[in-house]
Amino acid sequence: MAHRIALVPGDGIGNEVLPEGVRLLDHLAAQTDGLAFEYTHLDWGAERYLRDGVSLPEGAIEWLQSDIDAIFLGALGDPRVKGQQHARDILLGMRFKLDLYVNFRPITLLDARKCPLKNKGPEDVDIVVFRENTEGVYTGIGGQFKRGTPDEVAIEAEMNTRKGVERIIRAAFEYAEEHGRKSVCMSDKANAMRHGHDLWQRAFKEVASEYPAIENFHLYVDVLAMELVRAPERFEVIVTNNLFGDIITDLGAQIQGGIGLAGSGNIHPGKVSLFEPVHGSAPDIAGQGKANPLATFLSAGMMLTFLGHPELETRIQNAVQQTLLADEVTPELGGTLTTSQVTDRVLARL
Ligand code: ATP
Repeated sequence: MAHRIALVPGDGIGNEVLPEGVRLLDHLAAQTDGLAFEYTHLDWGAERYLRDGVSLPEGAIEWLQSDIDAIFLGALGDPRVKGQQHARDILLGMRFKLDLYVNFRPITLLDARKCPLKNKGPEDVDIVVFRENTEGVYTGIGGQFKRGTPDEVAIEAEMNTRKGVERIIRAAFEYAEEHGRKSVCMSDKANAMRHGHDLWQRAFKEVASEYPAIENFHLYVDVLAMELVRAPERFEVIVTNNLFGDIITDLGAQIQGGIGLAGSGNIHPGKVSLFEPVHGSAPDIAGQGKANPLATFLSAGMMLTFLGHPELETRIQNAVQQTLLADEVTPELGGTLTTSQVTDRVLARL
């Protein structure tokens, strides 16, 4: 049976990297008995939003839930759209309404030369971050009072629910157990945020006690930021809230060699989930064939594992790694190849 994939190239370089990701999927399907994909192409993004005001179309969520196995997304963001309303509607809309509570972001160094840290190699940088993806400060709860006056007040509330905190922590421990990872680090700011992050502390202790074979430890997020730079080898699995996860994984993207190499999954185990490169639409290089497609390939790999083909993800990772080591890369990594030439090299290695 074919895997039903919704394709959302989105904006800017999303339109360049996603088609390369589809080439990769088609290449694997042609090589693998019984592997097939059925695509639905979606025009969600700035162009359509500017044309007819539609961001996430009506009925889209129900359709994704009933007819689609995975969503493969390029990037959303366009300088012509004030406040990036369309991107928020589409991406946050899917994250919240499909309840994609796991933001799964590996920080894996594939090529030691790409790491900005001194004397660190692939054996030191192999971390998986579980970022909570449906709560925190991203719910928009809060308000402004006396806006634009000297007495202005602005309140941004961070929402933490017992259910939400517990399930992301459990997902991190489950992953550690299934993948032979020895420790889980939880990071918060409980010394300053004494209500919400006290909930994180208690939930972490309780869930951790169900996994006695896995070491658990806690770091305040400021200490985590320092430690990730000083000694990334300390970490195997990290679990944290939505905001801190956003920041820490961008730090991680640099440690692994740049944003062009960072893939991600937005996952609800067992339900339709979304896979995308971490980078944005990069309007500065859009349309020039300079976009690095490797983050998209690594995201495709995560999608294939989610769809039940972990051996294909391993093959993609190996092909990406060999392509990096051969310096067959786009200009931001010091190479001279175009987006589709990099794809050619990866496909040849597959
Ligand atoms: P957003 O606000 O949508 O997250 P942004 O434009 O602020 O995105 P990104 O697009 O993620 O930020 O990236 C910042 C810069 O990094 C880009 O302007 C671009 O120069 C570079 N960049 C990002 N992704 C890639 C890529 N895949 N290949 C090459 N360069 C990239």
